[in-house]
Amino acid sequence: MTELSVGKEVLSYCNKCKLTLAHMIVAMKDVNTIYKVQCKTCKSTHAYKDPSAVKVKKVTAKVKKASPGSSKRSAASVSDLWMDAVNNATTKSKAYSIKIKFELGDIIDHPKFGPGVVDKCIDGDKIEVIFRHDIKTLMHNK
Ligand SMILES: [Zn+2]
Repeated sequence: MTELSVGKEVLSYCNKCKLTLAHMIVAMKDVNTIYKVQCKTCKSTHAYKDPSAVKVKKVTAKVKKASPGSSKRSAASVSDLWMDAVNNATTKSKAYSIKIKFELGDIIDHPKFGPGVVDKCIDGDKIEVIFRHDIKTLMHNK
């Protein structure tokens, strides 16, 4: 490991330049810890920011959607879909009955499948509903 000391060059994240750039150490906290650095590009002096710590944050961004190539929805992506739909729903849940007319976005409380969200209306008497583990086509409005 290279020795760190005042006057040495080090890579640090610069808040002004918004980049990881060469900085000169201007102050040390202790022998192994850099306290303040001066940006060689904008000449501003600021606290040392470890560039590797900055990078890690961006990489851990969540991958949300399943790959579009997969024709079959996996159990995980159905439950993700369901979770999103339930969280975005603004209406109260209704107990499922074949006689009731459901609208797009309605929450259905199904005795067998549990809570679901109406995703599509088909032919006026069928609805596609996203449940926790599966997507079902149900009859309604009879
Ligand atoms: Zn700078």
